[in-house]
This record gives sequence, structure tokens and C-alpha cells, in this order.
Amino acid sequence: MSVTFWCPEAPTQPAQEECYCVFEGAADPLCTLCSGSGTYTHQQSVLPAINVTSVNAGAILQTIAIGSDESCGTWTVEQLDLVIMRLRSLLTQPDVMAAPPSRESIVYYCGRSADYGQRRFSQLLELAEKAKAAGYRVTWG
Ligand SMILES: [Zn+2]
Repeated sequence: MSVTFWCPEAPTQPAQEECYCVFEGAADPLCTLCSGSGTYTHQQSVLPAINVTSVNAGAILQTIAIGSDESCGTWTVEQLDLVIMRLRSLLTQPDVMAAPPSRESIVYYCGRSADYGQRRFSQLLELAEKAKAAGYRVTWG
């Protein structure tokens, strides 16, 4: 299972993506999604959306310590100041979410690399700052 952090109130814009039917550069002419064109358009939030496994979402939320239910939740616009402060602080602690270096831990920690926490915290910081500036809450689920 996965969890996405995003802003449901943020506007969307059309985004074009390669269709799932494209194989070795050729689209399926009978595809119902792209009608054989190889690309399809969908609405995408103008703000970033961050998709993680539910295990990693739980670890991220536990580390941020604001909102603990990994299956779904919300940071209100008011809470975002605290979330932003917390994320900036976490970005100064490089090993905060690193898995212990062993094969078992790679499985247990859903393949988190040494810089996993830093990458996710920096993505979440960008999302939180943009959401705060626009007056949107951040939800996950
Ligand atoms: Zn297609």
C-alpha cells in the first residue's frame, strides 16, 4: 500500500503522460485510454504530490511527530508553520531516518537508502511551504 502527501485544494492542470500500453515505442491501436496515440492527458495538481509506501509514511510521520496516523490525516494551514520548522530542523540531521546497513534492514525499511529521509523531507518541505503560501492544507492518504 502507498500513501500520497498532497494538497486537495490546489488547482490542477492538464499533464500529458506516456500511456501504459506503449511497448518498445509502439502504442496499442485498440487502447481505450489513448486510442493508439501513445499519450494521454490527465489533471495533475500544480503542487507536488509525494508518494511513499505506507511503512515509510508511518516512519516519516513518526519522525516529524506532527500527525501520527500513517493511513490518512491532515496538516492544517495553521499547523504548517510547525511542520515547516520541524522539516527544516530534520534536514540538518542527515542520519535521522537511515536504515541500519544490512540486507534484512533493506527489506524491513522498504528499501530506504541512507539519504531517503533527507530526500523525502526536502520534498515535503517544498510541498508544505508552497501549501502554506497559498493557504492550502496538506493531507495524506
Ligand atoms: Zn494507450
